Amino acid sequence: MTTATHDARSPVDPDDILIRVDVLNKYYPVRSMKLFGSEESAIKAVNGVSFQIARGETLGLVGESGCGKSTTGRVVLRLEEPTSGEVWFDGIDLATLDAESLRMIRKRMQVVFQDSADSLNPRMSTGRTIAEPLRIYEMGTDAEIKQKVADLMELVGLNPAWAKRFPHEFSGGQRQRINIARALAIDPDFIILDEPISALDVSIQAQVVNLLADLQARLGLTYLFIAHDLAMVRHISDRIAVMYLGRIVETADANAIFEEPLHPYTQALISAVPLADPKIERTRIPIVLEGEVPSPGNLPAGCVFHPRCPQAVDRCRTEVPEFREFTPGRFVACHLVDEAGSHVVERRGL
Ligand code: SF4
Repeated sequence: MTTATHDARSPVDPDDILIRVDVLNKYYPVRSMKLFGSEESAIKAVNGVSFQIARGETLGLVGESGCGKSTTGRVVLRLEEPTSGEVWFDGIDLATLDAESLRMIRKRMQVVFQDSADSLNPRMSTGRTIAEPLRIYEMGTDAEIKQKVADLMELVGLNPAWAKRFPHEFSGGQRQRINIARALAIDPDFIILDEPISALDVSIQAQVVNLLADLQARLGLTYLFIAHDLAMVRHISDRIAVMYLGRIVETADANAIFEEPLHPYTQALISAVPLADPKIERTRIPIVLEGEVPSPGNLPAGCVFHPRCPQAVDRCRTEVPEFREFTPGRFVACHLVDEAGSHVVERRGL
């Protein structure tokens, strides 16, 4: 059994690691007015997060809204500066790069956001939208860019003849395909998918997830898939990391998270996922978490989940649980799992 600091390690060869995030923190300072003067504090949106993603792998990052998963994505891409911590991409510490080197490495790191309507310029045609990154990075002549745009549209399942159309002429699913084509235009290695299907109709969500999985297999892409819909996350992820109040509380192989969730918060999230088999679904008993999520500006002492945890014991109110690896790649931060952990390891003969 090993210990890490809110880590979500992948059990793979270190040479295969494309993204490594070490003890990442993102705090937003706040000043509140008091009777006599003011007081400085901080909203701890991302609090000691570490993970790594192997080439060609998908790490699903899940948790309730406001848990810090989207902020994590923005800081990894350096769209926001971290308060502290390191992000390594293909063996390069991004903090050591000057502005031009960072601009060039960003070619290899793209993002697809949630709101496909807002993330497209309503006055820009589809062709110009997809071509924009190619023009910014001066990748090709006009004829080459035109051909590349047509190829990309075909790749994501759009008719190249629609290149002159504007965003309002497309459905939500088609607009998200345009966003994906734009992200692919400059041949990235790594894409952060930040709630890419949340704004879509349920009937369209599976199509977009299948497209993303297909593109990953064809192009060897690496994904960080951020979402709150656990069923879709399971479908596309190799591993899943569960976030609560700025921390990763559990990470494991996607099937293990669903079949044997160890952290009480993960157990509650999984219990809320409807099951495909109607007979078993009738017997599902969701775990209802009492109370509100505490403010990330005023974190509880001990385990940050203790005010809502149905299994909390006395030590949970004072001691921060360590993030421990119980079996290869299986990390959990919980005192109770910690106490039972040796049995888990023994059972599996490790
Ligand atoms: Fe619940 Fe305690 Fe485990 Fe935190 S450490 S998840 S409060 S049992």
